[in-house]
Amino acid sequence: MLSDRASNITPSATHAMNARLMRRRAEGKDIIAFNVGEPDFETPKPIVDACIRALHEGKTKYTPVNGIVPLKQAICDKLLQDNGLSYSPEQICISTGGKQALSNAVFALCNEGDEVLIPIPCYVSYVEIVKLAGGIPVLVPTNDDYSLNCESIRRAITRKTRLIILNSPNNPTGAVYSAAALAELGQIATQYDLYIISDEVYEKLIYGNAKHVSPAAVSPETLERTVVVNGFSKTFAMTGWRLGYTASNLEVSRACNAFQGHMTSCSTSFVQYAAVNAFRDCMEEVESMRIAFQNRRDYMYARLTAMPGIHCRLPDGAFYLMPDVSSYFGKCYESRVIRNAEDLCSYLLDEAGIAAVFGEAFCMPGTIRFAYANSLENIRIGMDRMEAALQKLR
Ligand code: PLP
Repeated sequence: MLSDRASNITPSATHAMNARLMRRRAEGKDIIAFNVGEPDFETPKPIVDACIRALHEGKTKYTPVNGIVPLKQAICDKLLQDNGLSYSPEQICISTGGKQALSNAVFALCNEGDEVLIPIPCYVSYVEIVKLAGGIPVLVPTNDDYSLNCESIRRAITRKTRLIILNSPNNPTGAVYSAAALAELGQIATQYDLYIISDEVYEKLIYGNAKHVSPAAVSPETLERTVVVNGFSKTFAMTGWRLGYTASNLEVSRACNAFQGHMTSCSTSFVQYAAVNAFRDCMEEVESMRIAFQNRRDYMYARLTAMPGIHCRLPDGAFYLMPDVSSYFGKCYESRVIRNAEDLCSYLLDEAGIAAVFGEAFCMPGTIRFAYANSLENIRIGMDRMEAALQKLR
């Protein structure tokens, strides 16, 4: 029999949809993937070359648990230059992906029974990580445009509230929180003595006039009580390399180090060496990926909003669109009835050969998340197929 902890975990809906997609492809079906939150670009060559060099140089042993000094220093330089945040290398804990960095931070801060505020819609793993740490996830609504609703955050605070998990630019909505909202949130956190975990993995994917602001930058008080989580997966198209980090006060970074030391030890040695000069050598590639994502966003948004009954807002960041599809609920195709977004996703997988993830996975029923991390050509074909499949519903 499994432990209560294992029995209580809800498996990731995004991974489940991916497994279905793989099965369909193995059966010979042509499926276009809009379900995975993964840049389709190659990792920039300077990073690949540095990795190969590190392997040839025998950089294949354990490193310190929280990472090698040159990478921690490069991260400090980046945080200062890009975010106006001043950290020393001991305040950085390098991890096996942003996901482990998040888990480290939650386990470092959350006691059994502590309440953790999570604005929704939210990334699939937040609720499960909090539950694994023994905390109680408290889901807090955002505004209609998915901006932060500080009033609902205030209302959700109780004596047990310990932590708020923020994610801007946001997965799944693409919302980018304003400096004013983050400043207000910083005041709330200070007033009620709360920590903020700020997941900034989509920081570099930002469009139009939107600007990424870290809550850690809004005041010295929030700097002290914020754990910045970031990683290399989305910025540098390095999802499979598994590299992320936290930046925090010393007490929290020591706790992350201790926790990680017993869970996974250091992240992969040659991956760390590969990334040391990424911020210096690869920003042109990062910018060209950003421009490509922006073009895809604009195209997919135009196509989705031209479909009858689909309502969508144009997001400022990340690589997702999250239309409301509820006007299709109750419609049928042959014997198939669409009761909710999960049914519509299954229908689109079967009838249109496109994979996307239903909003329930992100605590947002009535919607579907489309990742535009796919070529413009595939997006065009996928949207044509979706349009045709929706027309068949009566
Ligand atoms: N945070 C958010 C909001 C994400 O969307 C993801 C990945 O999809 C992660 C964290 C984890 O990223 P990684 O572990 O690849 O760095």
